Amino acid sequence: MIAIYPGSFDPITLGHLDIITRSSKLYDRVIVVVSRNPSKDPLFSVEHRVAQIQQATAALDNVDVDSFDGLTVSYARAHQAKVLLRGLRVLSDFEKELQMAHTNKTLSNDIETVFLATSTEYGFLSSSLVKEIAKFGGPIDHLVPMHIAIDIEKCYGKASFKQ
Ligand code: ADP
Repeated sequence: MIAIYPGSFDPITLGHLDIITRSSKLYDRVIVVVSRNPSKDPLFSVEHRVAQIQQATAALDNVDVDSFDGLTVSYARAHQAKVLLRGLRVLSDFEKELQMAHTNKTLSNDIETVFLATSTEYGFLSSSLVKEIAKFGGPIDHLVPMHIAIDIEKCYGKASFKQ
């Protein structure tokens, strides 16, 4: 069975990577799909995010990375994916994600949204939190893969955090 994992991934964090790794053991193929969301002002271009995720998931044979700019369910249907993966961290995620799952169900009844609970250690982690810390020169190498930390530091300047 094919599952897609759509999101902004601006940038991919260890929390996203944990969801990808765990789901790659549940499904034959997982496609991580970077959305071109015009309402968000991203730090990295879609192409850059795709390359970052490809590098982060290189060791996972059944994981592919792509991008799209339409309805998620249309992408899923075009790629024979029956499952749409999303991660849940806190209660506020649940409200937003349930609304999205119900909406997608009205658009395509044969595609199921499957939620994976975050691992305990990543429950607090989000892409915006990583950018916020990096902007103020804090350390982020425990939150994102090393090559992403380097990319982010190039954007904001070298981290100047002192303990
Ligand atoms: P979007 O803009 O579509 O919400 P994100 O990149 O922020 O894109 O998130 C993609 C998915 O990954 C969402 O379902 C989100 O809840 C989930 N996610 C983000 N961070 C984590 C984390 N630390 N642990 C588990 N799931 C996460």
